[in-house]
Formats: sequence, structure tokens, C-alpha cells
Amino acid sequence: MHSGMIGKIEKAHRYAEDRSRFDVQALQVRVRGNNGDHEVRLEDGSWQCECDFFQHERACAHTMALEMILDGMVRGSVAAA
Ligand SMILES: [Zn+2]
Repeated sequence: MHSGMIGKIEKAHRYAEDRSRFDVQALQVRVRGNNGDHEVRLEDGSWQCECDFFQHERACAHTMALEMILDGMVRGSVAAA
């Protein structure tokens, strides 16, 4: 591995420790729930989930779990409040 790449890896470690540098704007994730899989998307800062609970509450265990994983990297998070 050349020295330029080693420097970039060190920089990546420093960036990865600072979540405030990141603003996740779009995402698509398949969540394996206890009762089946669910497609969860983040588009323009808004969550979407296909599960029944989300249709009524605009938030669910699947979207909130992702907010927790992405702690501090999604604006307007429900679970972080
Ligand atoms: Zn859901």
C-alpha cells in the first residue's frame, strides 16, 4: 500500500469518529423484523417504511432503529429527541 493511501485511511478514521461531519440524505435498507422484512427509505430527510404502524404514526421501530444506528447523522430524527 502506498503512503498516500495510508494517509487517507488515517484521515478516514478521524472523520469516522466525528458524526457531525455526516448528513445522511438518502438511504434504502431492508430491515429483517420479527414478523418479516420491511423496506425502509430515507429521501430528502423523510423516512418511509412499508409497515402498517408507520402508515399511522409516520415513525416505527424500523425507522427509529435506523436513526439510532445513524445517531446524529440524520436531521430531524425522532428517536434522538
Ligand atoms: Zn416500519
